[in-house]
Amino acid sequence: MLLQTLNHSDEGISSTLAVNQLVGQLRGSGRSVLHMGFGEAPFPVHPRLAEALRRNATQKSYLPVAGLPALCDAVAQYYAGLSGVDTDQFDVMVGPGSKPLLFALQMSIPGDVLLPVPSWVSYGPQCDLLGQSIVPVSLEQGVAGLSIEAEEFRATIARARAAGLSPTKLLLNYPSNPTGLTVTEEALASIAAVCREEKIILIADEIYGRLDYEHKYRTALTHLPESTIVTTGLSKHLSLGGWRLGVTLIPKAMPGVFDTLCRIASELWSTVASPVQYAAIEAYAGHDDIEQFIHTTTDIHACVNRHISSRLCALGVDCTTPQGGFYTWPDLTRLLGHRYATSDELSRSLLQEQGIATLAGSAFGEDPNHLKLRLAGCDYDGAEALALWPQWGGDSSAFIERAAPNVAAALDAFAVFIGESLVQR
Ligand code: PLP
Repeated sequence: MLLQTLNHSDEGISSTLAVNQLVGQLRGSGRSVLHMGFGEAPFPVHPRLAEALRRNATQKSYLPVAGLPALCDAVAQYYAGLSGVDTDQFDVMVGPGSKPLLFALQMSIPGDVLLPVPSWVSYGPQCDLLGQSIVPVSLEQGVAGLSIEAEEFRATIARARAAGLSPTKLLLNYPSNPTGLTVTEEALASIAAVCREEKIILIADEIYGRLDYEHKYRTALTHLPESTIVTTGLSKHLSLGGWRLGVTLIPKAMPGVFDTLCRIASELWSTVASPVQYAAIEAYAGHDDIEQFIHTTTDIHACVNRHISSRLCALGVDCTTPQGGFYTWPDLTRLLGHRYATSDELSRSLLQEQGIATLAGSAFGEDPNHLKLRLAGCDYDGAEALALWPQWGGDSSAFIERAAPNVAAALDAFAVFIGESLVQR
């Protein structure tokens, strides 16, 4: 009965949240589930941030709609330091997570949306809610990372305009959910050049930006400062999704956008919780211990997700090596295309037969007949992983056996599932 509800978006709520709720129900009913369906960073709250939140528990007044000025300044300085860009040229706004900021931004900028395929599950539904059309853009996924072929991109924009649409913005996310890949500087420069030529605003979703496995912060701000809007926040690199603190940087050269955003925010969420805003100043102060924490937890994500990818490759699955974030994006079409017609069917069978929760590629706009899955490598105790890392970090198999036993078990279960499916060929 519960499995019937795994047609991810049937419930009308976002597929990632739906699969997480389903896993909670299955676990509650006594079934053991290996959870690769939901990407929530598993690490504990950094002690400095926990202490800052405690210290500010008595902050109770509404703060300015755009955010506490000291926090907005800290954010601007932090990103100036990371990117080398003069962030004085940007307005900063904080919101209750980057998800509502992305929605409000799309609302603030009239016109249709250029959306790479595949991309994060919420962009499409947000466009639908706003009555904006989606113009799919093909995303190249190579060994070097993600890119958009310039001629193809121009042609896509031209075709959309010829069809009467009005594409005004590109939503680009890197490191990417779902592919686990990121963009090279060359790819970003090429995308920026087409956006500049075609007067397309680039909304750069850099929420996983600090989780680049090479510890490089790649930002479109360097390539298109006059018309790139960055969204980011604390959810991923500081494992603080539940704090709901997102930020956006909007070029002052784009008059009207910031004011419209403030107007929308003032009618929807008023302000972000005051204690969280005061505490978040510490997250953007550049403290060495917090920066070290981000570095180490990124190394752990790299270890877990590269291990997932290499084990799957060893099983004969087509899978690129992740470059950042929490995800791996295997393609089982070649291996299991004889047995499953759609990624959704494959995802259901994995849960039913082996207790592995995944998200079907179709939830990310991918062709349903391509057997792609998004695997989140987050089902482990982050505090324990951090404690074990200094001793075991050099040997990924040993580390994962000890620190992430559910991930190890999921990979063993994958091997059984693939073996059985191949026997039935
Ligand atoms: N963008 C991407 C690509 C994501 O994966 C997520 C979270 O899952 C978000 C944005 C939203 O994150 P938050 O609203 O927690 O800032």
